[in-house]
Amino acid sequence: MPHSHACDHDHDHRGLQGDALSVGLSAALARCEAAGQRLTPPRRRVLEMLLEAGQPVKAYDLIAAFGDGGAPAKPPTVYRALDFLSKLGLAHRIESLNAYMACGGGGDGHAAAFLICDCCGATREIAPTVASEVERLAAAQGYSLTALMVEAHGLCADCRS
Ligand SMILES: [Zn+2]
Ligand SMILES: [Zn+2]
Repeated sequence: MPHSHACDHDHDHRGLQGDALSVGLSAALARCEAAGQRLTPPRRRVLEMLLEAGQPVKAYDLIAAFGDGGAPAKPPTVYRALDFLSKLGLAHRIESLNAYMACGGGGDGHAAAFLICDCCGATREIAPTVASEVERLAAAQGYSLTALMVEAHGLCADCRS
């Protein structure tokens, strides 16, 4: 999987492989079934690529890698799959990177927060406690929130050392 942030720091942020990848895909299948949705082959393939990457991936890289060395996907196929995975909470769109990442866990419609390394691109999903505070402030203004994204930029532990 090509990755746009190449730095010389030594670190390991590979995604899932082998059994761990199978477990991740099985968990996704269970969530689709629980939601009454189908994990169609294109949806499964896009999720598989995101899980394997373990970091944010741009849509055009997913389109190129979709066929695994064969023909690239038709862009709408990948965009529809990303839309589905995002709605179900199996993947998140990271606005500031214009990229997508497999969900690190969490239920339907959970607030997602990301720590993003601006040097190597390593990105981690965290559970934001700030979400409840934002919801409280929103409610005080009469807003009902449907989504909350927190994208924090900085340097990861490896790039700092
Ligand atoms: Zn998530
Ligand atoms: Zn880094």
